[in-house]
Amino acid sequence: MNTLKRIDPRRPFIITADGLRRITLGATGVAGSADFAAAGSAGHHREQAKPRRTSATPQRVLLVAAHADRGALDDHARQTLAAAALIADTTTEVVLLVFGEFTGEAAALGMLGVDKLIELPMFDRRKFAPIDELNALAACVAAYAPVHIFLPDNATGDGDLGRRYAAAANASVATHVVEIDATHVAAYVRANTAFAARSLPEVVLLAPNAVDPKLPFVGAGERVVWRVDGEPVSSKGAVRDLGIEEIDAAQLALEEADFIVSAGNGVSDVPAFERLASTLGAAIGASRVAVDDGKFTRDKQIGATGKTVEASVYIAFGISGAVQHLQGIKDCRHVIAVNLDASAPIAKRANLTVIADAQETIAALNEAASAARTARGTGAALLNSTAPAEGALA
Ligand SMILES: Cc1cc2nc3c(=O)[nH]c(=O)nc-3n(C[C@H](O)[C@H](O)[C@H](O)COP(=O)(O)OP(=O)(O)OC[C@H]3O[C@@H](n4cnc5c(N)ncnc54)[C@H](O)[C@@H]3O)c2cc1C
Repeated sequence: MNTLKRIDPRRPFIITADGLRRITLGATGVAGSADFAAAGSAGHHREQAKPRRTSATPQRVLLVAAHADRGALDDHARQTLAAAALIADTTTEVVLLVFGEFTGEAAALGMLGVDKLIELPMFDRRKFAPIDELNALAACVAAYAPVHIFLPDNATGDGDLGRRYAAAANASVATHVVEIDATHVAAYVRANTAFAARSLPEVVLLAPNAVDPKLPFVGAGERVVWRVDGEPVSSKGAVRDLGIEEIDAAQLALEEADFIVSAGNGVSDVPAFERLASTLGAAIGASRVAVDDGKFTRDKQIGATGKTVEASVYIAFGISGAVQHLQGIKDCRHVIAVNLDASAPIAKRANLTVIADAQETIAALNEAASAARTARGTGAALLNSTAPAEGALA
């Protein structure tokens, strides 16, 4: 029961190294018309060192633009890169333009299919500089003349930048793209009641999880030193960044929360749990049993009949991990389970399982938080302290 995978029957094809694929109840469907340059090298790639994708002198460019997330690329940006790399042929270079500081090695980016990396460390995802970013993207397009530009269609800067660029350059654009190959893109339209396809436009804004980021090849992974010419205009008053307003994590809709602590039947000390959530700045979630018991309101329930969440970090205290609950956390990045039972199904889903009593762990984390606060004179940054869950966040 617990290993049963739930499939969205209306799920589109996913671009993978082996072509367009759709997995339906254990069988893999292949899109008839898919024809990928990458597919030829796919068959036995997993056992061998990965070959370089480009084998001839590059003649055209695919540009991928994305904001860095704390010095790295998030899953969505990696999928967008993979889309470009899978579509590229042997004479096409994949150039990545990163807005913000990128602390990884360029060679590691080669593993993600990047041939050239251009880093623009003067930008920051947390600062609103749409005009400067647009100018930088336009300058990069002018320098490299890419045939297509790919951005993750997210709400944290890239989606907005792609739309601005397409409008400014009068370029063809497809948004919320859920299916893509070398010749076409497709997206749900009319409130998800219809599926529309078109030829590959100049600007592709890719929805999350439309691409399998595992690649059978590597890119050249070269870092390019590149300057944006001209004065920044945002600082001259065209746009004013009013900063980011911090709000109480409890006010945040669970679907938007990046950090969630969640309580199940194994949590008995609810006030201590709520104190921990507030100290960590995490939103509160709960299993159905905890909600049915009256410990939490119904809007906190996560799962098949509750909310579906996409947090970067999800800590499940005393939650068994029933299939209905797992359905609600399928898109979470790091799952940490605290459970007395090492064989609970949540342990299979979790990246880190702490076999311990929930109350004791919560108390220890609260204690570590106040020790860290005293040491630093601040209420923040428990994540750098000696909390048991530290390893999973590295
Ligand atoms: C149609 C349908 C829809 C459903 N929808 C949902 C849904 O949306 N969301 C949802 O969550 N469930 C849903 N359920 C219920 C689901 O099947 C499970 O019953 C529920 O998720 C179990 O909640 P739990 O893990 O908190 O409790 P339990 O199953 O009781 O598990 C408690 C866990 O806590 C551990 N534990 C106990 N004491 C401690 C302790 N002191 N310290 C650490 N660990 C401890 C135990 O080892 C156990 O793993 C649905 C069920 C059905 C039939």
